[in-house]
Amino acid sequence: MKEFVGINELWEKIIQAKHVVITSHKSPDGDAVGSSLALKHFLEKHQLDVEVVLPDIFPHFLKWLPCSNHISIYDFHPANVTERVQRADVIFCLDYNEPSRVGNSLSALITESDAVKVMIDHHVDPAEFVDYCYSDTSQCSTAQMVYQFIEALGQEGRVDQDIAACLYTGIVTDSGSFRFSSVDAETHRITARLLETGLNHAEIHQNIYDCNTKDRLNLVGYALSNKLEVIEDGKVAFVQLTLAEMERFNFKKGDTEGLVNYALSIQGVEIAAFFRESEDITKISFRSKKYAKVNQLSSDNFEGGGHVHAAGGRGTNGLQDAVDRFRQVVAKYL
Ligand code: 5GP
Ligand code: MN
Repeated sequence: MKEFVGINELWEKIIQAKHVVITSHKSPDGDAVGSSLALKHFLEKHQLDVEVVLPDIFPHFLKWLPCSNHISIYDFHPANVTERVQRADVIFCLDYNEPSRVGNSLSALITESDAVKVMIDHHVDPAEFVDYCYSDTSQCSTAQMVYQFIEALGQEGRVDQDIAACLYTGIVTDSGSFRFSSVDAETHRITARLLETGLNHAEIHQNIYDCNTKDRLNLVGYALSNKLEVIEDGKVAFVQLTLAEMERFNFKKGDTEGLVNYALSIQGVEIAAFFRESEDITKISFRSKKYAKVNQLSSDNFEGGGHVHAAGGRGTNGLQDAVDRFRQVVAKYL
C-alpha cells in the first residue's frame, strides 16, 4: 500500500478543522474537479465543513459530477472565496504543485494562509509551500492518489458511488482512458474497487465524451483540415487557432480539449502542440509519444511545465510569436 508520511498526525488535524478548503488548478480538468469533489464527499462523511474552490470555470462535460454545482469559483465570487480561504484551518492543494497554477489572487491567499496545507499531486518538481507534501510522479492521476490517501487512512470502505464516480472521472480523463504509460496494475486495481461500488462506467464515458456540440465538431473539423501543420520530417505536428477562428464556431471553454491528441495520433509524430489565442495570452498544449520531454520544452520556452508527455505553457507576445518560437526550438527536443 502506498505510504503517506505523517498521515495519522494529519488526520487528527483534519477532523478537528472547522473549515476545510480544497483547491485545484486553473483551467480545471477531469482530474482536478474529480479528485477535489471525491475528497469533499469523503470528508463530509466526517461531518466536516468542506468547500471546493477553483480559480476559474470547469468544462461543461464535468457538470454532471455529484455536487459540481457547489463548487466556488474565484473568478465569479472573489470576495466570497477570499473569505472562505482565509477562514480555512486546512487547505488541500490537489493536482498542482506550485502556487502560481491557481492564479495570482488565490495563490497569494494560499501562501499567506496559516492553515495546515496538504498537497496531493503527480506533477514533477513540487514547490515547497505545504506542510504535507504527497507528490508521486509515477501516478497516472491525482484521483488515484486520493483513493490511496483514503486507503492509507484505512477508510476505503467509505468510498461510495459518488466518490467512485468522481475518482473514476479523474483516472479516465488523466490516463487517456487507461492508455497512457502512467497506467499500471495499481490503476486497474483501484478502478476495480471503484467499479465494485456499482458505478455505471458506460454512462460516465458518455457523459464525458459524448457531449459534443455541432459547433465543436465543426471547429475541430476546420482545425484539422485547414490548420494542421507537420514539420521536422513528420516528427512534429501542430495546430494553431486565432480568436477570430474560434469565435466563428461559437467557441466555448473545453471545445478544443483533446485537439492536440489528433496531431499526436499521426503515425511518426513524436511531438504535438496546440496553440490557442486568447484575449491576453496564447495558451499552448504539448504532448509527446515516447522520448521527447515536453515539460522541458515548455519550461525552457513557454513559462510552463507539466509531465514528460503532457505539458502546457503560454506565449505572451501573441500567437504568431509563440508559433515562430516553437518552430525554432522544437528540433532540440526531438
Ligand atoms: P493541458 O495541455 O491539458 O492544458 O495540460 C497538460 C498538462 O500540463 C497538465 O497536466 C497540466 O497540469 C500541465 N500544465 C498545463 N499548463 C501548465 C502550466 O502553465 N504550468 C505547469 N507547470 N503545468 C502546466
Ligand atoms: Mn492530474
